[in-house]
Amino acid sequence: MTVALAPERSAELPVLRERGQREVFCGLTGIIWLHRKVQDAFFLVVGSRTCAHLLQSAAGVMVFAEPRFGTAIIEERDLAGLADANEELDKVVRQLLARRPEIKLLFLVGSCPSEVIKLDLGRAAQRLNGSYPGVKILNYSGSGIETTFTQGEDACLAALVPEMREEVADQLLIVGSLPDVVEDQFRRLFADIGIRRVETLPPRRAKDLPGVGPATRFLLAQPFLGDTARALEARGARHLPAMFPFGAEGTTAWLHAAAREFGIDEMHFRATVAPGRERAKRALAHHASRLAGKSIFFMPDSQLEVPLARFLAAELGMTIVEVGTPYLHRGHLADDLAALPDGVQISEGQDVDRQLDRVRAARPDLTVCGLGLANPLEREGLSTKWAIELVFSPVHGFEQAGDLAELFARPLVRRDRLTV
Ligand code: SF4
Repeated sequence: MTVALAPERSAELPVLRERGQREVFCGLTGIIWLHRKVQDAFFLVVGSRTCAHLLQSAAGVMVFAEPRFGTAIIEERDLAGLADANEELDKVVRQLLARRPEIKLLFLVGSCPSEVIKLDLGRAAQRLNGSYPGVKILNYSGSGIETTFTQGEDACLAALVPEMREEVADQLLIVGSLPDVVEDQFRRLFADIGIRRVETLPPRRAKDLPGVGPATRFLLAQPFLGDTARALEARGARHLPAMFPFGAEGTTAWLHAAAREFGIDEMHFRATVAPGRERAKRALAHHASRLAGKSIFFMPDSQLEVPLARFLAAELGMTIVEVGTPYLHRGHLADDLAALPDGVQISEGQDVDRQLDRVRAARPDLTVCGLGLANPLEREGLSTKWAIELVFSPVHGFEQAGDLAELFARPLVRRDRLTV
């Protein structure tokens, strides 16, 4: 039922390390899904017009009456002095909180323009906290110099950890933002399995921020949360190593790690997960005929690459040409790395031109990459999948396994239609 694991193998895997030009979004991108998750939070980017533009265009597909993010534009006109920039920031916060009294949690999100780097946003958050009782003001960096794409969520959640109260009760904490529908499915499954107390980080409302303590065990729902995990461990919580919950096997292994830890009877666990697992397998069988034997190349983007490659190889029979990832956390990814086929090329970091040369040489059936690389590759006759779609779509758990497979099958079907 569970996949045979050899986590120690991951320590020996040869990894190609690249330090060249990168082609990834910055950590501000995380705001797009985080602001939908924590419903009484607001993300105020302290940045430039470029940052505002990135957010607008990344969120452009969604229409909001009252978006829960915005940008305080700190530009040259504010450079008369730092005091001016701080005044400008205070003014924007004052206007925002007067207009939006429902905001209970305000994140000041740092960016990379030099005017912003000079601002001490930690001190600004402290100063502002004193002025607005009832609103918690925190800060983190989404700067493109310090963070890529999904690391913004890691920085955001790590900033929440010191705010968590001390908790002595036994509990399971699911760490990483999931769409509400997926979170609800997991909560139901854990309740049926027999784990009574389950909390999530982030919570849906700031007031529901869970506690943490030595009796807290946590499962990572996302593989890009290294800083958050470290911060939770520093508060006494213990990480439960597991494959990430993609597909029938990944989801089973992830749930099983918690069931084992909480002393759940093995037969009961198997019986409880069996219907969902079977549904997932049936949904995957439907796509396996299209995907089996097809080759795929992951450019480094979201840090989801290793668990997704594991899923595609082990559960759908795809051939992995290369798994590129911006950062390889060998500890958190140990089980997924161990389940990759032998000899798969793993690369960490990026040298975009060299990697594109390898894509062109291999001519994989599908390349998973950022938006900026997709069009040029498509023009060269290569099928692509936007990595960002995999982060925005509900893809975790048994019920989403078929949808996840379809995200990879769709571009191949489209290509087949075009070439018929
Ligand atoms: Fe660009 Fe930096 Fe702003 Fe991100 S934080 S949008 S990389 S200027």
